Amino acid sequence: MPEYTYKCLECGKVFSDLNTISNRNTTECECGSKANRDKDAELAQSSGHQAISDHEHWSLSMGVPVSQVAEFRKRFPNSTYHDDGRLLVKNQKHKRKQGAERGMAELDHNCKAYFR
Ligand SMILES: [Zn+2]
Repeated sequence: MPEYTYKCLECGKVFSDLNTISNRNTTECECGSKANRDKDAELAQSSGHQAISDHEHWSLSMGVPVSQVAEFRKRFPNSTYHDDGRLLVKNQKHKRKQGAERGMAELDHNCKAYFR
């Protein structure tokens, strides 16, 4: 069963609960009152998770500690992830060559660098 986030109509508590898809919009709070699904809270949580995993992704691809990812991202603006998870560095020809020379990236026939 998927996990949803709810807010109690009575006591205001926000909590996560497993629920069936057909019953996903309401559940019962531990105080016994009805709780409605809180989609805003779910969205905030999922975008939070996204930010963390994105950072970890960069960390793995660039081989740098998570704490240095922000600095690296500044050095590689306009970069995106390819569908297969490799980092595609755009508009930074010398960085791409540097990456390739250091064995950090492969250049394809268009001289796009894919960082592993
Ligand atoms: Zn409650």
